[in-house]
Amino acid sequence: MPKVTLPDGKILEVPPGATAADAIGKIGKKLLAASVAAEVDGRKVDLPYVLPGDCKLKAFTFDSKEGKEVFWHSSAHLLAQAVQRLYPEAKPTIGPALEEGFYHDFADLPPISSADFPKIEAEMAKIVSENLVPVRREISKDEARKLFSHSKYKLEMIDEIPDGELSVYQTGERVDLCSGPHVPSTGIIKAFKLTKASSSYWRADSTKDSLQRIYGVSYPEKKQLDAYLTLLEEAEKRDHRKLGTQHGLFMFHEWSPGSPFVLPKGTIIYNELLALLRSEYIKRGYREVVTPQLFNKALWEQSGHWEYYKENMFVLPVDDTEFSLKPMNCPSHMLIYNNSAHSYRDLPLRIADFCMLHRNELKGVLSGMTRVRKFSQDDSHIFCTPEQIGSEIDAMLDFVKFIYVDTFKFSFKAKLSTRPEKYMGEIAQWDAAEKALEDALKKNGIEYTINAGDGAFYGPKIDFDVKDALGRAWQLATIQVDYQMPQRFKCEYEGADGAKHTCVVLHRAIIGSFERFLGVLTENYTGKFPVWLSPVQVTLLAVSDQYNQAAESLATKMRASGIRAEANCKQETIGAKIRDAQLEHIPYMLVIGQKEKDSGKLAVRTRDGKVENEVPINLFISRVIDEIKSRSS
Ligand SMILES: [Zn+2]
Ligand SMILES: [Zn+2]
Repeated sequence: MPKVTLPDGKILEVPPGATAADAIGKIGKKLLAASVAAEVDGRKVDLPYVLPGDCKLKAFTFDSKEGKEVFWHSSAHLLAQAVQRLYPEAKPTIGPALEEGFYHDFADLPPISSADFPKIEAEMAKIVSENLVPVRREISKDEARKLFSHSKYKLEMIDEIPDGELSVYQTGERVDLCSGPHVPSTGIIKAFKLTKASSSYWRADSTKDSLQRIYGVSYPEKKQLDAYLTLLEEAEKRDHRKLGTQHGLFMFHEWSPGSPFVLPKGTIIYNELLALLRSEYIKRGYREVVTPQLFNKALWEQSGHWEYYKENMFVLPVDDTEFSLKPMNCPSHMLIYNNSAHSYRDLPLRIADFCMLHRNELKGVLSGMTRVRKFSQDDSHIFCTPEQIGSEIDAMLDFVKFIYVDTFKFSFKAKLSTRPEKYMGEIAQWDAAEKALEDALKKNGIEYTINAGDGAFYGPKIDFDVKDALGRAWQLATIQVDYQMPQRFKCEYEGADGAKHTCVVLHRAIIGSFERFLGVLTENYTGKFPVWLSPVQVTLLAVSDQYNQAAESLATKMRASGIRAEANCKQETIGAKIRDAQLEHIPYMLVIGQKEKDSGKLAVRTRDGKVENEVPINLFISRVIDEIKSRSS
């Protein structure tokens, strides 16, 4: 009897000729019902795949990353089948899974808009109810060419696939070229929705044929679809581009694409973030530097960027040679390190830099504050000995927790990426660094997964996925170990043995790009920032003109104490003033009238509608100051 090894090490005996589905069914009926595909000896396969004898087997349900990919890719096929039934002239090209959902591209399809979605969705529902079983067949190149002679797109794809690796899937009346795997039947795609239609190009190349693209999402259960649609709606309401305009935080102009203008209110938040990091830098032994923006290409040649990264750099002619705006700080910090001699006693040296960076992103991918050409990071490079890696990572993880968990109340998960196939340095060095990273993660009680082989060629790294109030993950913080750049720049120290050694550099950013983080915070708080980040913390609302003077002088007093207070002396009713302050999410509103003027006590109204009467002015001021200083969320 063939032996099937499961992920937990258990061994299952199955009769010869058993399929992946048979083996999964032996583990449990429930698991089989939830499975969409499997992996046999590292290869992704359909559930009806016949096991090759002794093998390793893993089932993929929708809950796994792999399962989602199969489910969404199969949904793209479902969409193509419905479109072909409705528009027989349409030629499907490609239909991949996305991070959330799927799309399919079509040639020779009349322009589709959301008005056409109900008709297409109805046809998809019909195919789901037909519960069609996709059947895989391996075919020769010649047969494939005959089968797809009507589509120049498929013919082009067939030419690129080596002979012996071509397969097709027959689902009902439809045959498509595909490497698979697919869900066991169309019937399990129970809940779906088309979300968007746009135009695209064959091979994403604007000189090639124009295509129609239809996007969708799908789930095994309706409640999952509903939850996703609610999230989408909520995310749209919170879109930072919209909120940023509404609250006067930042703007863009076509004359500097991808380069945010941070407006006065946004700059207050930006500077508060800077102040937070700077105060931590003092406590945690970082040294801040200010570095040039423009560098001779010689620097980039030495760092390797000229060879590997030039297309992402803005290059300009200066002094009869080429210079570039810096896309990263690392090389310039190597120059600072080499400005003086170092002994092992001086290490670690933690250099921090908030300088502007420029990266030449394609105009088409620029988006709000999240994909930009100009940004600044809370960037730092730690020059240390190999023995210091562990304690430095430990300290960084504490810093990451302080920022995300203690300050912003976000949760996060870490991903540890280890040695890739192509790597620099010695295996023993890599093993030691990976162990130091993993030990530090364990010591700090941080939940993590391992991305085997996904490290950079110059060293292992940890990336952090931070979850916001909507449960969306943002990759913000990163820590990377680098053996290569210090070698390229000959960054050395004198060891205890009196000999020269090359140091290790740790690249790290915690909030990452300020611009991006400002966008994330704007969406997370829906513009309702905690008091310490609020551009205006207190607004004083004069009941009528005769109290303007009192409101102004109280605002001045508060500003002198370190509170961002503004008097609203506009010719509006008090009701209108309160509404404006509420729309702006100003944390505290103080109504100033005769009673307040006489008594010196305040009526405090919060943005959440709580009212507290007769609060002595000095008590109010000291309470707000405490709230600002503690940076409470
Ligand atoms: Zn497929
Ligand atoms: Zn760096």
